[in-house]
Amino acid sequence: MPFYQSMIQNPVPWPNGAKCACCITFDMDADSLIHLEHPKDGFRRVSAISSQQYGPHIAVPRIVETYRMLGIRQTFFIPGWCMETYPQAVDTILEGGNEIGHHGYMHENPVPQSQDEQAMWMDRAITVFVEMTGKRPRGWRAPLYNFSNHSADLLIERGFRYDASLMGDDVPYIIESDKGKLVELPSHWGLDDWPQWVQSMDLDYMMPIRSPRAGWEIFEQEFEAAYKYGGLWVPVCHPFVTGRLSRWDTVTQFLERVLDRADVWFAPMQEIATHIESVVAKGEFDARRVKIPPYDSAVEF
Ligand SMILES: [Zn+2]
Repeated sequence: MPFYQSMIQNPVPWPNGAKCACCITFDMDADSLIHLEHPKDGFRRVSAISSQQYGPHIAVPRIVETYRMLGIRQTFFIPGWCMETYPQAVDTILEGGNEIGHHGYMHENPVPQSQDEQAMWMDRAITVFVEMTGKRPRGWRAPLYNFSNHSADLLIERGFRYDASLMGDDVPYIIESDKGKLVELPSHWGLDDWPQWVQSMDLDYMMPIRSPRAGWEIFEQEFEAAYKYGGLWVPVCHPFVTGRLSRWDTVTQFLERVLDRADVWFAPMQEIATHIESVVAKGEFDARRVKIPPYDSAVEF
């Protein structure tokens, strides 16, 4: 006999009775990764650079046009250096009404940095962000999910409202540090496109490349579970990966199918975060509260 188990203990009341909230996030890292990984000779790696530049030059205009035709707006996370280097992509994204979030300056890794070092890179990218968009960023995704023990404090001090780097739940939750709190909009590696399709000797990341349909199927199954149980569906995609012609064709067909359902909510991350703040304030959503960082010092054993 079939039964229905409510797998999520604290489902979110999504707007207009939607069953789930969805945002395809694109991290437009472009060739920052090549120069970060190979600071001395990255500039010589012309083929690798061309592969990464496919993102801002070819994929971003294509993706934004798809969103325009489908009538949705989504979120792109972009390192400050990539915004400066590819201003046309920034303009294209903003013209479509999409959100840009903070994603480091050069895709640097905050985890080994001191608090001052991390603050310096974060502020350098915020300066670019304000100059190019006229606004301060509301959301952050740590480069390569490298959220450090200082990240929450630094984000809260700078007025960020949400983070999109952690993996601790199926629905949004609240992260709390000594400085205050942030909305966490979690994702996980099963929703990241690198394990499906990235083969880059220059970045030391070699995966068996799946067909567009087989690679996207994992995202579809994640979507169906979020739809069934009231979760959050936040794929972590990259323009040079999922924005390739055959893969984006597959994603576009998927979007056409699911947007036919009246009860899915596609929105930029900042709108999802604002909704969470609102339903928490009204007592309509019992958000889990998680202390960040989880440990103050090395765990002794
Ligand atoms: Zn990235």
